[in-house]
Amino acid sequence: MTVPDARTFLITGVSSGLGRAFASGALAAGHRVIGTVRRAEDAEAFAGAAPGRAHPMVLDVTDYDAIPAAVAAAEREAGPVDVLVNNAGYGHEGALEESSMEDLQRQFAANVFGPVAMSKAVLPGMRARRRGHIVNVTSMGGFITMPGITFYCGSKFALEGISEALGKEVASFGIRVTALAPGQFRTDWAGRSMDRTPRSISDYDAVMDPIRSARQAKSGQQPGDPDRAAQALLRLVEAEDPPTRLFLGEDALGLVAGKLDAMRAEIAAWEAVSRSTSYGA
Ligand code: NAP
Repeated sequence: MTVPDARTFLITGVSSGLGRAFASGALAAGHRVIGTVRRAEDAEAFAGAAPGRAHPMVLDVTDYDAIPAAVAAAEREAGPVDVLVNNAGYGHEGALEESSMEDLQRQFAANVFGPVAMSKAVLPGMRARRRGHIVNVTSMGGFITMPGITFYCGSKFALEGISEALGKEVASFGIRVTALAPGQFRTDWAGRSMDRTPRSISDYDAVMDPIRSARQAKSGQQPGDPDRAAQALLRLVEAEDPPTRLFLGEDALGLVAGKLDAMRAEIAAWEAVSRSTSYGA
């Protein structure tokens, strides 16, 4: 089934979780989807989901040099990208002091640099056509923070900042940029996809051990339904005036509200110091 206003989506990481649900939702709504996967068997499964409209693209988003040619080839087959969804990413768990610089670099490579490289590949076409929407899947962890996933939160804060600033750079070209920030969703994120640095400093036992076991126990029980997230994505991309940031889930809303209150209170408590630093203050 194609619809008259069918659009071409490019969604990274459609092999599982949110990416798979986003792709299924867009295909069910009659759109075309270029979906990135890292394994040939996932490419085959994705192509079979909607022959002729599901276009698999084998790509690791950290292979930045391969991205421009891969996107160009996919666009020749499926048409110009109207909506880019930078969804591929993973979580690193480990106390900062226990984790390596390589852990940090890998985390930012997938969660920040990959989405930037993907955006750079589609922006010239979107600019030429004076329309397009880039949706960066961040996280509530890109606004609130949790101990034990410090590198992950850092990467999602970075993507939030890039997303918001990029939106201001390209708004006059008719291009919209939204950070889509999910709470906890039932995907492979906390299971097979999570990169867990082995524990090494006993001082952190009281902080890290409960966090690690709680997250492992919760995997598969998270409240968020990926198919409902997909419906939210479709509403987002159909909006006349899409938001800069959209949180998904009751948990995200509650935690974000708490952080905003705490931030306001802390800013007020230190306001005099903040105002004291200009010449002549
Ligand atoms: P998931 O089920 O583990 O799916 C992650 C997807 O990203 C998989 O398709 C995976 O491919 C792909 N991927 C990971 N690294 C990649 C790379 N370097 N290049 C290309 N593809 C890569 O987890 P998910 O929850 O759906 O995650 C999707 C996004 O949502 C992530 O950005 C995640 O941080 C974010 N998020 C998730 C939650 C949550 O609670 N689930 C909450 C907030 C934000 P493979 O199958 O090849 O591994």
